[in-house]
Amino acid sequence: MLEIPESTTIARQLNETVYGKTIRRVVTNTSPHKFAFYHGDPADYENLLVNQNIGDSFGIGAMVEITAGDCRIVLGDGANLRYYDDLTKVPPKHQLLIEFDDESALVCSVQMYGSVFAFKAGDFDNKYYLVAKEKPQPLTDAFDMAYFAALHTANTDKLSAKAFLATEQRIPGLGNGVLQDILFHAGIHPKRKTGALSGQELDRLFGSIKDTLAEMTRLKGRDTEKDLFGNTGGYKTILSKNTVGKPCLVCGTEIQKAAYLGGAIYWCPGCQPLKE
Ligand SMILES: [Zn+2]
Repeated sequence: MLEIPESTTIARQLNETVYGKTIRRVVTNTSPHKFAFYHGDPADYENLLVNQNIGDSFGIGAMVEITAGDCRIVLGDGANLRYYDDLTKVPPKHQLLIEFDDESALVCSVQMYGSVFAFKAGDFDNKYYLVAKEKPQPLTDAFDMAYFAALHTANTDKLSAKAFLATEQRIPGLGNGVLQDILFHAGIHPKRKTGALSGQELDRLFGSIKDTLAEMTRLKGRDTEKDLFGNTGGYKTILSKNTVGKPCLVCGTEIQKAAYLGGAIYWCPGCQPLKE
């Protein structure tokens, strides 16, 4: 699933690849999918988007936003976007195909579930989109220690570190994927209660959010995810399905996995002890 490092990487790759191109043809829903979500009727997307010129693309939390003239295309978590430099390479099944005037194309496909939105700028009131646009992103200067400290309230003391960081869109785009290595570098077990963290641990957590996400982004995303060209990211995950059961690189303890709050957590019992 896309999270901040991948949405930022894909937006950058879009700016290097499709910026300035003109949309010639749009096809939606060649392979109807129960859990592919559109804005309004996808049959209208062609009218909306044909002849529009591609402008800047942005990563917004876990979403990618593409400017297309006075319209916007927004791809949410679970919607995979690929670029093809030749129409003959385009796969037959997809939820959105955007053909450009130079015979290249963008193809969006949804596996489990995903959002494929197109709309006139300003004409979209999706809650997740608006919240993700409004809140400071962790890699910006606006996301500073004071902002991070203000995310703590009396209500968040009871939350585990995982729930605090990766639910309620508290930090849009920081999800259950990047969470694992962020907590590893901070030395915090995902089940630790936020209210029990020391000032020093909170400082480490803030630093780890910034540094871990910056490193993942610098290396074009995690090795568990794919970029605009279908290549896996260059960031080697420390805690993921790729490393469970293997020895921790720091202390040699076997990396553990458990189901927790609607998704797997991974941790090193040596580096991230579960203390109260
Ligand atoms: Zn360890």
